[in-house]
Amino acid sequence: YVTLRLILGDQLNLKHSWFTQKDPSVLYLMAEMRQETDYVKHHIQKVTGFFLAMRDFAQELQNQGHEVHYIRITEELAVKSLPEILQHCFDTYSIQHFEYQLPDEYRVDEQLKTFCTELSISHQVFDTEHFYTTREELGQFFEGKKQFLMENFYRMMRKKHQVLMVGNEPLGNQWNFDHDNRLKYKNQVPVPPMAVFPKNVISLLKEIEQAGVETFGSIEPHFFAWPTNRKEALEQLDYFCEHLLPHFGDYEDAMHTEQAFLFHSRLSFVMNTKIVSPKEVVDRVVLHFYKNQDTITLSQVEGFVRQILGWREYVRGIYWRHMPDYAQQNALDNTYPLPEMYWTGKTKMNCMHHALGLSLQNAYAHHIQRLMVIGNFSLLTQRHPDAVDAWYLGVYMDALEWVELPNTRGMSQYADGGILATKPYVSSGSYIQKMSNYCTGCHYDVKSRTGEQSCPFNSLYWNFLDDKKAYFAKNQRMAMMLNLLGKIQPEELYAIKKRASEIIENPDLF
Ligand code: FAD
Ligand code: SF4
Repeated sequence: YVTLRLILGDQLNLKHSWFTQKDPSVLYLMAEMRQETDYVKHHIQKVTGFFLAMRDFAQELQNQGHEVHYIRITEELAVKSLPEILQHCFDTYSIQHFEYQLPDEYRVDEQLKTFCTELSISHQVFDTEHFYTTREELGQFFEGKKQFLMENFYRMMRKKHQVLMVGNEPLGNQWNFDHDNRLKYKNQVPVPPMAVFPKNVISLLKEIEQAGVETFGSIEPHFFAWPTNRKEALEQLDYFCEHLLPHFGDYEDAMHTEQAFLFHSRLSFVMNTKIVSPKEVVDRVVLHFYKNQDTITLSQVEGFVRQILGWREYVRGIYWRHMPDYAQQNALDNTYPLPEMYWTGKTKMNCMHHALGLSLQNAYAHHIQRLMVIGNFSLLTQRHPDAVDAWYLGVYMDALEWVELPNTRGMSQYADGGILATKPYVSSGSYIQKMSNYCTGCHYDVKSRTGEQSCPFNSLYWNFLDDKKAYFAKNQRMAMMLNLLGKIQPEELYAIKKRASEIIENPDLF
């Protein structure tokens, strides 16, 4: 072989221009690596999903006539670092030229850049041909601005890519349907069963165990249901359009004890591994909407498009604009380690029990569970953002640092000091009660803020505002809540703070 082309585990884009021609002088390298399984402890479903998807992808390339060298996690080479693996392959195959696609993780990007500066053979870097935007596009768009408002970015993207637009105006003359998309789910419409793609993963699990990869969380070895290849991903996308999209926007923020997935698409894993592109997803969804306007309203589709054309590209831009400093930020000086319940789901708080339990069981929780239950609790109890990040990066199927970090450290923990969010996403129990049925079956009373039965989120919320009131004094969006804080009588505030500090010190007792 003359050229070695590296394909990372999250670069499974069969539509990439690399693969349009078969070239016997090109060898593709794919490797299951301990450096990727071990940078944090991962959920077993995440490791399984990645390896399944990679193996399927390698097989597909071979079926198409490409040459692939695939390293399995049980092979000796798998424990080596990426540069060592590459060097080994260069030597084995007398490679004269190296090519790779831009990694989406800063860590791997740096590793490959450094490797290439010392390389004696030539090399070339390619785009992944996956995202709508380049790494730098968001930075350029917000050049000179202090705050990077997602809404502004999103409108630019809608115009630029002509999605749900009539010329330069948004379809329906409205950019944003957020206000319509806040229904509580009370069985108004049935939730369709989840689309499943069952696989037996017993032998893969044995390999992962044999290699000594440490994981957590549970898995059904006979019934691994996530889509892990292109055919399944497209089926999942079709299923979403047909069955889930008609109510996606309405119940986007809802949470329910009996419904793990509600109307969410579960497409994040196949998108983040690049099995399908955001453009394919958005185009398919928008086309489906145009064909079915009698049954699907604009607010459902706009809600979905906003997540992908807006949020997903936006957080990626934030990541590249602010790394590597972003990963160190801790604007609110939070220092506590994570409670044990994050690994067991054991707590009397029904909302946390459910959101953590689902995460551990499915390697998935939907956005509001991640943000307004687990993230909210983490911030209110002042957990260190490093610990919070490591947990989020490990537990979810779709967790890759470029998307996890801005969402967790930025949006959810406000550790970036407000680059991403104009105010911290914190709430008392009343928000959780409004958006879910969790409080009905809870040990705690969502209406009270002091006393042994009081909902922990209540004392924690007011305690948080009180602890951080100097920090937020100039934030207009916090003014109303700080004003309400000022009206709490000193004796009650004392009792609130006492209860909050008991929870913060010993969260696992609650
Ligand atoms: P749907 O609700 O069906 O949404 C459709 C798609 O929109 C998703 O597949 C995803 O690609 C995109 N999307 C939605 N919200 C966001 C967002 N805030 N940022 C980026 N893309 C978004 N998403 C990840 O892909 N990886 C992560 O590691 C991750 N970590 C998160 C951590 C926290 C604290 C929070 C609050 C959110 C995080 N998200 C992350 C965003 C979001 O929660 C998930 O993308 C979503 O739950 C995935 O499920 P779904 O595919 O069913 O999404
Ligand atoms: Fe969560 Fe409080 Fe509601 Fe219990 S009462 S489910 S702890 S918000």
